[in-house]
Order: sequence, then structure tokens, then C-alpha cells
Amino acid sequence: MLEQMCCSSDSTILQVLKVIDTNTRGIAFAVAEDGRFVGTLTDGDLRRAFISGVSLDTPVSILLGARTSLAMPIGTPVNELIKKISNKIKIIPLLDEQQRVADYFEMKAEFHAPIATTELNGNEMAYVMECISTNWISSQGSFVKQFEDEFSTYIGTRNGVAVSNGTVALHLALVALGVGSGDEVILPDLTFVGTINAVLYTGATPVLVDVEEQSWCIDPSAFERAITPRTKAVIPVHLYGQPCDMGQIMALANVHNISVIEDCAEAHGAEYSGRKVGGFGHINCFSFFGNKIITTGEGGICLTDDENLAEKMRVLRDHGMSKERRYWHDEIGFNYRLTNLQAAIGVAQLERIDEILYKRERIREWYQDGLEKCKVLKMQERLPLRKSVNWLFSCLLQERIDRDELISKAKSKGVDIRPFFFPLHEMPIYSQYGRAEDLPVSKKLSSIGISLPTVLSFSEENYNTIMQIITEVIEEL
Ligand SMILES: *Cc1c(COP(=O)(O)O)cnc(C)c1O
Repeated sequence: MLEQMCCSSDSTILQVLKVIDTNTRGIAFAVAEDGRFVGTLTDGDLRRAFISGVSLDTPVSILLGARTSLAMPIGTPVNELIKKISNKIKIIPLLDEQQRVADYFEMKAEFHAPIATTELNGNEMAYVMECISTNWISSQGSFVKQFEDEFSTYIGTRNGVAVSNGTVALHLALVALGVGSGDEVILPDLTFVGTINAVLYTGATPVLVDVEEQSWCIDPSAFERAITPRTKAVIPVHLYGQPCDMGQIMALANVHNISVIEDCAEAHGAEYSGRKVGGFGHINCFSFFGNKIITTGEGGICLTDDENLAEKMRVLRDHGMSKERRYWHDEIGFNYRLTNLQAAIGVAQLERIDEILYKRERIREWYQDGLEKCKVLKMQERLPLRKSVNWLFSCLLQERIDRDELISKAKSKGVDIRPFFFPLHEMPIYSQYGRAEDLPVSKKLSSIGISLPTVLSFSEENYNTIMQIITEVIEEL
């Protein structure tokens, strides 16, 4: 095979095309008369030369002279070689001490289904280039305001305040609502740590409550039982794309005069009672981290209908600087700004959110058809009034299944499966904020929940492969 990959550096374009046609690898290694490696030629290189008017009997030396090709010494560890592999470079020649091609490394096209990937194939690049070519790369610039306006309009709120990530969005919301030392903030035990950390940053005391068996989200009756005269706020988390019971939560909060901050980090576009989540609470927070429904790389936003709260958050986001008097500060603020570069990506992502949500729904249908046959998995439920957005495709295993074993065996076959979040109360740093006996559902769901790969660019056939691998692995357990 190695012979079929090599051609003389004196060859014509036609001769190299013949070599590539025979080896079917799309590539040839040009070598000099003494056997030294001169450069790599791809079918793309030859095609581009041909299109630019070069004739078939032109020597390839004119293509080789202008550049250096990647080659590695033979014996380079595989992990080093894998690092060099990219969309552009799929095959690397390996050279001996005399610089002769002794072998080559090719990344085998093995199946790999990661838990999530970003899809940046809309206007992301164009808008980022616009920031660079106009020099607006920091937190001033028109994309920030555009993103705030368009995202808040999409959800249905009057104001958006873009910030640097979802965790600081929650912190900023709590501070703007006046939450601090001596106050209690109720939140579900089953969530990502960003939710509880934001509460702890304010000096307030988190109060962990249990989740519903069916929705996996905060249980309104547990919320009600946890209310005390010191309760200042509640943070319902729309977990794994499933909306909380916002009807009951808002009703209870109104009766007891409690501020509501929705944590929508996993639920962009999800709906409760025909309205998008993020439009119910007093201030509502989203994350745009890389694996969320839409992304800005890192980023977040606080949404509110209240002009005063929005203004307060804008000032606090920008070091607490007075709007009337520059560099005069009446309070201790933060630097929580989003950059124009990130907002540019957000604007492009938002243009495609309907398509992204549609693709996720279709993935759910593909999984549903296949997984219903495999009786040990139970999918996230569809509940009345609630429209989930399938953030990661999450489901529950039957309790007899060894989850760790399933995850490691599936991984060895290229399928990434992720366990649910740990219950917060089980981690020593948070254990004082909830009692295990009050949180049985959170513990149970956490121990049997898994998320399956949700890759937008995958076909139905890819999902069939994933399910086939999972089914095989489960049968072996
Ligand atoms: C991702 C996430 C956050 C935090 O968002 P970051 O942007 O990563 O800081 C908060 N809450 C939940 C439920 C999340 O999933």
C-alpha cells in the first residue's frame, strides 16, 4: 500500500492523478529521486491547480515548491499523531532518519457519538469577521444590543441584559432583587452546581427541596413546605429541557411575596401553557455555554419585564458605574459583560433556533422509536401543558442496570453516555443545605438518569447505530 501512496516529485499532474486514482486515498506523497519526502499532494490541490488553468502535463513541482507539508518521524506516539489530524489533514506521512516515507498514519473512521457538539454553520463566521474587521471585539458594539433585543423578543420579555455566563446571570439577578445575607433561597436538589453557587455568592442560605418523579423538576409542594418568613426567592430549574410547573410556582410565590428567578440554562424555547419559559419569573436567566441549546461560546442573559430591575442589572454588570457620571461608583458592581464577538455568534445562532429545536425534536422521535423496544430505558415524559426541548436526550434506566458499567462499555464502542447531575446534598460542601430524608426523588433520579448523544448533524441511521450499540451493551451486562 505504501508504494501506491508515493509518486515521483518529477511527475506531471496527470501522473499523480493516476496514482491517487489507484490508491483511492485522495492523496499522494511526492518523493525525490534519492527517496526523500518532498511534499503531500491531495486531489484538492490538483483540482484547484487544474481549475486555475494549469495543464495536465505540468510538473507537480510547481505545486510543491511553494509550501511545506506536514510529516512526522516514524515512532511518534499515536496520541501525538491524533492531535495533528483535522478536517484538512487526515493522513500523515511518517519519515525515517533519512527523511524517506517509511509509513503513514491514517485516522480510522471509527464511529464516535459525542454527548453534544456545536453547529456553527450559519452566519456565525460572517458576524465574527464583521467584529474583527470593524475592530468591535470587546463589550461595546452593536451585536450585544441586537442579541439582547432579539433574544428577549424571542422569549417574550421586554428587557435583556447579556452577561458573561449563566452562573453570573443568576448571581446578577439575585443581587438586583436584593437577595443577601440572612435571606433564604429555595432551589431544587437536582441541578447543575451553578444554581446553588450563585446563591452562595450573595451570602444568602440555599434551601434544597425535592423534585417531581415525573418531570424531574422542582416539586411545588416541596417548595411550599420549605417557605419560611426569611424566604426571599425561589429558583425553579427547567431541567434537561423540561419546564417546571410554572402555574403552581408563580401562584405560591405571589401569595408569599417571593421573587422567582427561572433557571432556563437548559431550556431555550421550552414552553409552559403555550408560553416560553423565561417569561414567568421576575428575572429569568439563560446560559449560552457550548453545549446548551444555542451558544455564544460562554455567555448568559437575564430577562425581565421590569425596567428598573433591567437598569439596575445594567449598572451592576458594568462595575456599578453611575450612568450620569463616568467613573463614579455608588455601589460595588461586577464586570459581567458579554463581548461583541460572543454576541455576534449568539445573533447567528438565534437566527437558526427554530431549525435547531426542530432537529432536536426529530432526534427525540428517532430515539423514541428505537428505545421503546429496549425495555430498560424510560424516556423523559411528555406532560400536559409542558413542552420540553430535549436539551440532552435524557432518560431513566431500570434500577437493576449497572449504570457505570453501561457508560464505560458504551464509551469503548464510541458512544458517550453521561450520568445525571449528583444530588447537591450529597456533596459535602452543600450537604448542610438539605436533608437526605427530604430528598429521596432527587437521589433516585440522579442514580438512574442518563443522557444520550444529541448531535444535530447525525442522521437517523447514525441514531440507529447508537441504539444498536446501547442495546448490545445492555444485553451483555
Ligand atoms: C449550564 C447551567 C448553568 C450555568 O451556566 P454557565 O454558563 O455554565 O455558567 C446554570 N444552571 C444550569 C441548570 C445549567 O445547566
